[in-house]
Amino acid sequence: MSQYPMSPLMGKMMSQPLLISSIIQFADRHYGDNEIVSRRVEGDMHRYTYRDCHRRARQLANALAGLGVQMGERVATLAWCGYRHLEAYYAVSGSGAVLHTMNPRLFPEQIAYIANHAEDQYLLFDLTFLPLVEAIAPLCKSIKGYVMLCERDRMPAQSTLPNLLCYEELIAAAPDEYDWPLFDENSAASLCYTSGTTGNPKGALYSHRSTVLHSYGSAMPNALNVSAADTVLTVVPMFHVNAWGLPYSLLLSGAKIVFPGAALDGKSLYELFEAEQVTFSAGVPTVWLGLVNYVQQNKLRFSSFKRTVIGGSACSPAMMNTLMDDYGVQVVHAWGMTEMSPLGTACILQSKHLSLPLAQQRKILQKQGHAIYGVDMKIVGDDGQELPWDGKVFGDLLVKGPWVVAGYYKEDDNVLLDGWFPTGDVATIDPDGYMQITDRSKDVIKSGGEWIGTIDLENIAMSHPAVLQAACVGIAHPKWDERPLLVVVKRPGAEVSKEELLAFFEGKIAKWWTPDDVVFVDALPLGGTGKILKNKIRAQFKDYQLPTA
Ligand code: ADP
Repeated sequence: MSQYPMSPLMGKMMSQPLLISSIIQFADRHYGDNEIVSRRVEGDMHRYTYRDCHRRARQLANALAGLGVQMGERVATLAWCGYRHLEAYYAVSGSGAVLHTMNPRLFPEQIAYIANHAEDQYLLFDLTFLPLVEAIAPLCKSIKGYVMLCERDRMPAQSTLPNLLCYEELIAAAPDEYDWPLFDENSAASLCYTSGTTGNPKGALYSHRSTVLHSYGSAMPNALNVSAADTVLTVVPMFHVNAWGLPYSLLLSGAKIVFPGAALDGKSLYELFEAEQVTFSAGVPTVWLGLVNYVQQNKLRFSSFKRTVIGGSACSPAMMNTLMDDYGVQVVHAWGMTEMSPLGTACILQSKHLSLPLAQQRKILQKQGHAIYGVDMKIVGDDGQELPWDGKVFGDLLVKGPWVVAGYYKEDDNVLLDGWFPTGDVATIDPDGYMQITDRSKDVIKSGGEWIGTIDLENIAMSHPAVLQAACVGIAHPKWDERPLLVVVKRPGAEVSKEELLAFFEGKIAKWWTPDDVVFVDALPLGGTGKILKNKIRAQFKDYQLPTA
């Protein structure tokens, strides 16, 4: 399968395909007693070990074979972070089928669209999703059977679902002896669709090789830095780019795993952090906002929490400072995307930065980060020419590496530019190699032929004590094409006027970047992965009249 020439002298090392099944085999054999704790959608806590997980994954692999699932066929899930979902991760991919993790927060029609596009054969789902699954089932043409992730006593007395099976019954009837098959490491392992905020969702089809390499790369100290000494709570759901690869990287690291299920509110998360003595976590800023607010309002402290990775959208300096200064939690800002498995950069200081004053260190830490080995990146101008790494010039961000997509599932279009994948993000890269996103190219505001990056504006707004959330969008303007409008959610009980907020920008950015107006709203529209939907905000304010003065 290699497109590269062979040397007349090949290395004499064992040839072993990089397969996902090797991770669970290693985890069982070398860390078998390690714990996996899950808050179940049933409401209780569940605890077992890596060894139990491996045994049940083998049973599920046998059960899937019994259902006739063939190599390369897609098996979908609609489930939160939990042990049964983890078993599916290993059983489906490990047996050579393809795990398709669907996002239950998408619109039902979108879920049906991607299930049909993927031609899913079976759908495994958490019991809370029964109404959703019943609603979409008539639209899902390829699904032969539905497996509800629960015990028999939780199964509905009747359901409109054709061929509805009980997960626990299914695996109880299957033997736990199973030899994980060996096959080409470039075989498809899992499938994730982009959220499709513009156009239909597109499938990123990961291979075993790309997944194993990403798991290694993302576990390294310059990235997630997880080890067997950690207790890790996965705030990022297993349907959001496969929980950023944690279901693989945690098992190969031997960490204790804590799955929060569906309870991602501040109170539930805090209680779980404390009860399980969590040391490390990873998630998107909106969920951290909920947790931090809860902890602040109730004057609580974390007794074990040391480090967190925040990514998926920009982590504001305000949130980073609160976590680091008030709670002593190290924040690692990270960036990636579905098409990158997802990790691309993580922000860790280099030894030469450690003697810098704190404010300067923070400036670096607020960037999206440094490439990790396995990902190369560059910024280019409109003419496609590479731009300098001076930390000032911004351009389109391109990436490449063995865990970056080469194309989309079932699409023949060449999406690469000279072998590089265009991320759709606009960024700067500084001389030390730290990348900072100024915006997504479709969110950049074009004012009088110049670009205004919205992330900067939002970060400034969110550093105001009365601001909980802020989003900046371009509004049509007769003279300047577009001008920034700041849309703000105030903190409960806090007050700030439009004039005060605009004055707050003074001296922090070029004057012409200052938003033309501020609108206060109760909430911002969020997408399925907890990101602010700028296209919805733009649509909502498309006829908004900015002040003319
Ligand atoms: P979608 O936004 O379609 O759900 P992804 O979850 O793959 O798709 O999101 C990828 C995008 O999220 C990136 O291209 C980037 O615009 C944004 N993103 C991810 N991490 C960060 C970050 N730390 N700061 C700013 N933007 C980020």
